[in-house]
Amino acid sequence: MTIRVRFAPSPTGMLHIGNARTALFNWLFVRHHGGEFVFRIEDTDRERSTKESEISIMEDIAWLGLDWNEGPDKPGAHGPYRQSERTSIYEDHCSQLLNEGKAYRCYCTKEELEAVKEAQRQRKEPPSYPGTCRNLSPEERADREKQGLSSVVRLRIEPEDILVNDLIRGEVVFGSHTLGGDFVLFRSDGGVMYNFAVVIDDVTMKITHVLRGEDHLTNTAKQILIYRALGYEPPQFGHMAMILGPDRAKLSKRHGTVSVRQFKDEGYLPEALFNYMSLLGWNPGDEREKMPREEILREFSLERLTKSAAIFDFKKLRWMNGLYIRDLDRDQLFAAARPYLPDAGNIVAERGEEWLKDVLWLFRDNVEVLTDFAPRVGMIAAFEAGEEAQKLFAEEASQQVMRAFRDELAGLDGAKLPLTTEIIDEILPRVQEATGAKGRKLFMPLRAAMIGSPHGPDIRVVGPMLGRDEVVRRLDAALGV
Ligand code: GLU
Repeated sequence: MTIRVRFAPSPTGMLHIGNARTALFNWLFVRHHGGEFVFRIEDTDRERSTKESEISIMEDIAWLGLDWNEGPDKPGAHGPYRQSERTSIYEDHCSQLLNEGKAYRCYCTKEELEAVKEAQRQRKEPPSYPGTCRNLSPEERADREKQGLSSVVRLRIEPEDILVNDLIRGEVVFGSHTLGGDFVLFRSDGGVMYNFAVVIDDVTMKITHVLRGEDHLTNTAKQILIYRALGYEPPQFGHMAMILGPDRAKLSKRHGTVSVRQFKDEGYLPEALFNYMSLLGWNPGDEREKMPREEILREFSLERLTKSAAIFDFKKLRWMNGLYIRDLDRDQLFAAARPYLPDAGNIVAERGEEWLKDVLWLFRDNVEVLTDFAPRVGMIAAFEAGEEAQKLFAEEASQQVMRAFRDELAGLDGAKLPLTTEIIDEILPRVQEATGAKGRKLFMPLRAAMIGSPHGPDIRVVGPMLGRDEVVRRLDAALGV
């Protein structure tokens, strides 16, 4: 038997990190076992589903490095892969259930149902359809049809315990009486209900394992009843623990960045997000955290999924992203960071690509996300003194240091140029001797003059990058000459 899983997002917004983790775990499971991954679009909610969302979700899943075997863009033997294109399949199955008496038409109006609910509320009972139309005689039904009353289709459910044999949570039991009574499969406007569509899709797409968030457990209980009514064997279910924010509330927009696209825009690398997400509810059984994709894939197993919720640690993700940035070689770093540098075109035109690569390389130890580069590159490329720098420039002692250093540079024999780290190492002791400044007193004013901030990279590296003439120009500017 080929293992087949699916990722089935509703295209109603950006890909949320929780859904991305669901896709990731399905992918790891199925690729580990050599099975097939199906991408299905659950667009039964016609009002909220959009084409843009569908496209962006697929782009983001691909960006994370997850591939699929069948999907809207990859026709296979079990399509179509959008629920909106599968209506006739759902209708056929619905007719089957109606013919067998396992489902029935319900003609109750909205107002009637609301009145029932209200009475239940007053009796402090949970809302539940009371079965008003469950046992209509053929005559009663014909009569309502003749009146032109619209109807929904409901599944006939019996009192029983529904057992979910969950791959992650073990045995979970639901009393069918907790499901709100005979539930709706088709709405009066002919729209299919979510749980019915999912079951029919999973059966006809030959899905063997359904791995999804534990917020779907109640749906699973309903779905098992639908499988049974249709006479199909249910797939294996596994419900993953939720992802919570640092305050232990369900991870949501309130916590900040929660969509894959936002993380991408903020300069996270897909490798880092992949690695970090894999640890949200799974672990390798030891203390390892930074693990390359192949290692995670090799070691992934459902047995190691945890039942307790995972806390999303934004700081740890940033830290991990920094590690992945430092894994990049010079060219990879340039390719990765360039889209995050608004001024890259000008800088390259002015100073050349190699110069920009040098600057990125210089800062790579001090960044955690790719967007951290822009202000740093900006400091070097286009000088602008910050507040702290201005303060230093106003101090007499700083001015002495800057002046001495400037004069040393200006007086350099042309044969010694271009400026190198070694030359700066020769000059600095002389400046120290002439001014009496050392350590921070020596470096901070010079750095502030070169990059606009007293903090940052080694001036012995920055100096050669700028070149002698540019450093002299910046020192002059800082000295106000
Ligand atoms: N469309 C559902 C969602 O986005 C998927 C549910 C499922 O995996 O069955 O939550």
